[in-house]
Amino acid sequence: MKKTNFYKQICIIILTLSTILTGCTKSNDVKSSKLSNEITITLDTIPSYSGNPYIVINNNKPYFSNDEITDQSFEFYSDLDSLGRCQYSVASIGQDLMPKEKRGSIGQVKPSGWNTVKYDTVDGKYLYNRCHLIGYQLTAENANTKNLITGTRYLNIEGMLPFENMVADYVKETNYHVMYRVTPIFKDDELVARGVLMEGYSVEDQGEGIEFCIYAYNVQPNVNIDYKTGKSSSQSSSTATNETKEETYILNTNTKKFHKSSCSSVKEIDNQNKKEFHGSRKDLIKENYKPCNKCKP
Ligand SMILES: [Zn+2]
Repeated sequence: MKKTNFYKQICIIILTLSTILTGCTKSNDVKSSKLSNEITITLDTIPSYSGNPYIVINNNKPYFSNDEITDQSFEFYSDLDSLGRCQYSVASIGQDLMPKEKRGSIGQVKPSGWNTVKYDTVDGKYLYNRCHLIGYQLTAENANTKNLITGTRYLNIEGMLPFENMVADYVKETNYHVMYRVTPIFKDDELVARGVLMEGYSVEDQGEGIEFCIYAYNVQPNVNIDYKTGKSSSQSSSTATNETKEETYILNTNTKKFHKSSCSSVKEIDNQNKKEFHGSRKDLIKENYKPCNKCKP
């Protein structure tokens, strides 16, 4: 895997994953905790995103130490750091923690780097979701600011949801517990996480049913994200693949603009100036056509 200079420069991130809670109740009362596990993960050991929503870490073995694995349900959400960023959330998920009510509103929470914007290329349009570290279906947390990060739709649906669903199904079927920890991974003082480390381990059957350790990328195909601020932009349309990919465009031969066929401006083009074109952007630009500002073809 070729790493960019950028990734080489990424500082070492030390994740101190430390918790074991005894007698922690549903109301998140922390009665005792101790440092039980220390993990060092360097972002530069994680390959840059190359089309898979997540990759396996540590041969798919979670980093839970023996003494923090428990068949007693608990959940713990770390305090935000000085930049207002979520840290890890960890739970031993049992049926007793799972929701009995419909999910409530979380729209009032503004996680670090929250910068909402819509793109046509994103499923559901919104780039960012308020992304639960531990999914609502697992521990019934609604608007818990310690458990919601600024995550792309892609991270939420393609990266994290398959693992949440797997754990939820397993706990419902077996009535066993699953140790589950999600750690957002930030670079330096950036406000948007680069990704999340997700670990799962089924307790009563010693990992036979559930065992995973993965890193899911907080990326969105076709969108550039400034992780420092959460600002974003449509990925440069000058990338080679977009330039040469054959598409159907609608041309306005009068204004020399070209549109996606779905663009609302298309129906305003006079029929005599309207022309359908199948080919690449590159060919159109060669013929002095300019992309429409609205549909950004
Ligand atoms: Zn257009």
